[in-house]
Amino acid sequence: TSSRMFTEDVPVVVEDVRRRPAAERNELLSDPGFGRYFTDSMFVARYDAGRGWYDARLTQYAPLQLDPGTAALHYAQSIFEGLKAYAQPDGSVATFRPEANAARFVRSAQRLAMPPVPQEAFIAAVDALVDADRDWVPTGPDQTLYLRPYQLAVESFLGVRPAHEYLFLVIASPAGAYFPRGVHPVSVYVSEDYVRAAPGGTGDVKCAGNYAASLLPQQQASALGCDQVVYLDAVEKKYIEELGGMNLFFVLGSGEAAELVTPELSGTLLPGITRDSLITLARDMGHRVTERKVSLEEWRRGVADGTVTETFACGTAAVITPVGEVKARTGDFTVADGNPGPLTMRLREALLDIQHGRVADTHGWLHRV
Ligand code: PMP
Repeated sequence: TSSRMFTEDVPVVVEDVRRRPAAERNELLSDPGFGRYFTDSMFVARYDAGRGWYDARLTQYAPLQLDPGTAALHYAQSIFEGLKAYAQPDGSVATFRPEANAARFVRSAQRLAMPPVPQEAFIAAVDALVDADRDWVPTGPDQTLYLRPYQLAVESFLGVRPAHEYLFLVIASPAGAYFPRGVHPVSVYVSEDYVRAAPGGTGDVKCAGNYAASLLPQQQASALGCDQVVYLDAVEKKYIEELGGMNLFFVLGSGEAAELVTPELSGTLLPGITRDSLITLARDMGHRVTERKVSLEEWRRGVADGTVTETFACGTAAVITPVGEVKARTGDFTVADGNPGPLTMRLREALLDIQHGRVADTHGWLHRV
């Protein structure tokens, strides 16, 4: 047992773990890609309606044994988070705003009628795993250790009701630079056949089913030569919401007077932590930032008459990705000259500089592990 606690009365038990030799680890870290390799350990805690959270441990990364009746496999009572650990110049490791992920995880749990993992327990679990597998935090340019906390219903029962038993896990996967050969814009397809989220649905939380439902529209976009799907609101099919896994920003005007607009959190968007951080950073730089409705027509017209000068997507995985070409049934268009815009790139550097510890963390966003 380590001195670390999961909840007030549940300690984190640390088991002996088989560690791959440094040579093997460094080989994987030299070109990690994304989500392909996992570290030596994983964090697991159990929940039972009678006992609450219990049996928290750092254990060998290994397959789970699940009863075929496991509720999550049938009814998708399953949520997740995504955050990263960054090697710091002084040799330490820090995560970025983990309390924001912990808070969102609680909201996701509540929406799926799951017992929430207390926010401090979430952070303790992430810290415990990063600490145990610290050697797996890559140190190459823009490389990170991606952390995946998740919770699933494991009671074996086929009735449709909230399960009485859950697992909470954290696994970690080294991630390479998203743009190893320089930032290049993505092309997007505006989906008019499918919606991501409807009012009253689950679009504002990270439940597994949202991502299962995004796969077919994503396939459709790929078949049309596009990288990502832009979703419209489900009611009027008029307003831009977000991509399947990233929020969107529009730059109006240019230079010091450039203004940022991002779709408001209507209840059908995922409140991205990158989105929230960029709103703050852009305001720090003196730019006006507005959260409001943005229609596809406004985007198209703005690009045509030059008022919309840049568009970018943002999220933990890719940080900031410029949007170049836009395909839509109502006509295709290209944002500006199709190249990454200046404010897009400036915000990207500003956020990366904080995350990788290259500038002062004036907002207190880094959490040392
Ligand atoms: N929208 C969706 C649908 C997402 O899945 C994500 C990734 N969590 C985001 C936006 C970006 O959120 P964040 O900046 O917190 O990664």
